[in-house]
Formats: sequence, C-alpha cells, structure tokens
Amino acid sequence: MQTLSFARSQKLFEEACRLLPGGVNSPVRAFKSVDTHPLFIERAEGAYMWDVDGNRMIDYIGSWGPAIVGHSHPEVIAAVTAALPRGFSYGAPCELEIKIAEAVQKLMPSMEMLRLVSSGTEACMAALRLARGFTGREKIVKFTGCYHGHADMLLVKAGSGMATLGIPGSPGVPQGSTKDTLTLVYNDSEALAATFAQHGSEIAAVIVEPFVGNANFIRPKDAYLEQMRELCTKHGAVLIFDEVMTGFRVGPGGVQGLKGIKPDLTTLGKVIGGGMPIGAYGGRADIMRHVAPSGTVYQAGTLSGNPIAVTCGLKTLELLSQKYSFTDLSNRTRHLVQGLKSAAQKHGIALSVDSEGGMFGFMFSATLPQSYEEAAQANIDQFKRFFRGMLHQGVYLAPSAFEAGFVSFAHSDADIEKTIAAADAVFPHLSRY
Ligand SMILES: *Cc1c(COP(=O)(O)O)cnc(C)c1O
Repeated sequence: MQTLSFARSQKLFEEACRLLPGGVNSPVRAFKSVDTHPLFIERAEGAYMWDVDGNRMIDYIGSWGPAIVGHSHPEVIAAVTAALPRGFSYGAPCELEIKIAEAVQKLMPSMEMLRLVSSGTEACMAALRLARGFTGREKIVKFTGCYHGHADMLLVKAGSGMATLGIPGSPGVPQGSTKDTLTLVYNDSEALAATFAQHGSEIAAVIVEPFVGNANFIRPKDAYLEQMRELCTKHGAVLIFDEVMTGFRVGPGGVQGLKGIKPDLTTLGKVIGGGMPIGAYGGRADIMRHVAPSGTVYQAGTLSGNPIAVTCGLKTLELLSQKYSFTDLSNRTRHLVQGLKSAAQKHGIALSVDSEGGMFGFMFSATLPQSYEEAAQANIDQFKRFFRGMLHQGVYLAPSAFEAGFVSFAHSDADIEKTIAAADAVFPHLSRY
C-alpha cells in the first residue's frame, strides 16, 4: 500500500514550535488531537493542496469551510487581481459593500440589513452585544458543542478546538463574563422549554449553530429549531443563527433556507469571504438600526469591508449561486459518505454518516449523535487511526472527530471514488496507523 512521507513538514513544524505557540496560529491546525504533526502547505488549487514534501492531498477541509468553489478558482483570482491596483483598504465606503450586502440578502432574505466585520468571531460577539443592547437584557443561551468564536462569554462548553483538546472553558476568561451564559444540551427540547419558563424575561438571545458543525455534524430534531423560534418570539428574545459554517454551504441560503425558519439575526463568516477575512452579522432592520452610527450599540473595524476581501467574497457568492448546482454538490457529498459507510461495513466497522450540501460528518459509532454528549461517546481511537491512515493515502480530512468535513464544487467524481478506495484500503489496517 502506498504511503506518503511528510519529513519536511515534520522539520518545519519543529522550527515553527520555537516561534509560534504549538507551532500554529490556530489550535486545531496542529493535529495534536490526532497524535501527529501538521502538514505545511505550499499551494492549493481546486480540490487539492500540495504540501512541502510534494504530496498532493485531496482536501476535505477547504480552509475550514471558505473554499466552496475550490481553491484558487480562476474567476476569483481574476477578480481579485483586477482589484489589487485599486488599493487594499480605504477606510471609507465603497460600492462593493452595497453589492455584497445585496448578494447576501438575495440568498438569505432574512438579512434585511447587515454589517461587515473581519471574522466569524467578531460577527458573533457583535451580534450578541446588539441583542443585549436591543433587548436591555443580559442572559444568553448557547448549546454544548456549538462554537461561536473565542469571545470570553462564549467560551463555555464550546465545540471545535475546545472539545478536541478537552479544555472545559479557558483560563483567562473572567467568571463575570460567563455568568450570564446559560449552556444547554443541543436537541434537548425540555431543557429549552424549562430555561425559558424560568428565565424567559431575562434572555437577550439564543445563539445556535442550526446544524452543529463544531461537534462533527449534528442535525436538529424535528421541530427543535421551530420550538426555538417560537420561544424567542413569545419571550422577546433575539434568535441568532450562527451560520458562519453552514451559510452558503449546506445550501445557497444556509440552514434557514433549507428549513424555512427566519432568525432575527444571522452571523456569517468562512464562505462569505471565499478565503479572505470577512464576517458579517445582520437580520431584522429594526434590530440592525440599533448599530452605531444609526443607533447606539457600538461596533467598528479598521479593515471591515475592505475592497480586496469583498471582491473575493462577492465573486465566490456569485459563482456558487449562478454557476454551480447545490443539488449536484449534495449528491456528490452524499455519495462520498455513503461510500465511506459501505467500506467501513465491509470491514465490520461501525460508521454513522450524514451530509447536506457540501458539508458532511462521519462518526465511529453505530448511530448518528444528537448532541455533543453523544458525539463524545464515539470511538475516538478508531477515528485517529483512520485519519492518519487516510493522510498517508493522500486524503486530507479534518484532524478531529468533532469537526465537519467539506466538499467543494471543484471535487470531481474521480476524487470521491479515490477517497472511498483509500478508505477501503485503510479500514482493514487501522491498527497499523
Ligand atoms: C468558524 C466558526 C466561527 C468563528 O469564525 P472565525 O472566522 O474563525 O472567527 C463561529 N461560528 C461558527 C459556527 C464557526 O464554524
């Protein structure tokens, strides 16, 4: 069986560790939770990334979501290249900001007004400040396993890197900043109802990943998001869908488009920047008008709406809504996870899988998890071995059992078949890796 060498990456990682904490600029990249070192990437194009050892990897991380049209899409490169000589940042309004707001609103009509920021973290922080400012209330409700960026008030039982590394909260977060954060188990309707019954008039906002992508891939039970919508409406709380991951990813209009549920506010990131740093929050105009300078809730950003990032994001949104078919993407992604499941079954391994649009999850468990607590019961050791085995076959999966995976419009049927064949070769030899 072919296996790749990652010697130069290993050497660079040792050097990086002298200068960067853990050798990386964002924790999950370090591959710590899969007991190996990360690959250092030289370039990325289409569905592939090439590492410094010259290996071509089929990439199912896609920069953790943004690369939905594939890396280095020629039309995106052309648009960005044309924009470069006009300047990198103005710190003043430009017409592109209107264009991207219109493009977002067309895909997500709930975004009556929006504000651009530079990351998903900022979007979630700002949306919660706005919800608190708008309602004059302090409590927020979040769910275990959901990640909304690294703001103090949100670092309670967050998913993603936090779940991966088993950090219960984080040192450095003052107790005061999380005292108004109520954390519930996702998909537990009774807990949600009970929380509103007890605290309804104090809750400023409920923030949720409508499909949880930071605890693998967890769907809401039937009527769960609807219940959230009803309770928020009844008690005057702001419902925030964090679609930083799911927006323009599970379908053109995110989970809200699939489910036909209208949140009061939505946060966006990842795909909206197409690989450049953009986040956004927006929603009901009567709420958004409270943002400074039209209102008094303060939020600002030196690089917000900068023309290069917006050009990259706008072209990406245009391509995904006009040039490509989400039905094809959905089918291809489903084919991938069904193929993985069949290959696992053939070798007597329990694998549960799910997908929607270009987002997928798989778990070494007999049944699909309904919450982070259930996801944590899966066979993590098997996952680590599978991850390392696939890496040696040239398949680059998310290095954590608690992260969703991504298929882009650039992935071909041949890439999917090759991935399934790799899994078929790895499953019988998990103990080797
Ligand atoms: C990635 C992510 C964030 C944070 O976005 P950054 O751009 O990394 O700050 C917030 N919410 C969700 C659901 C995410 O997946």
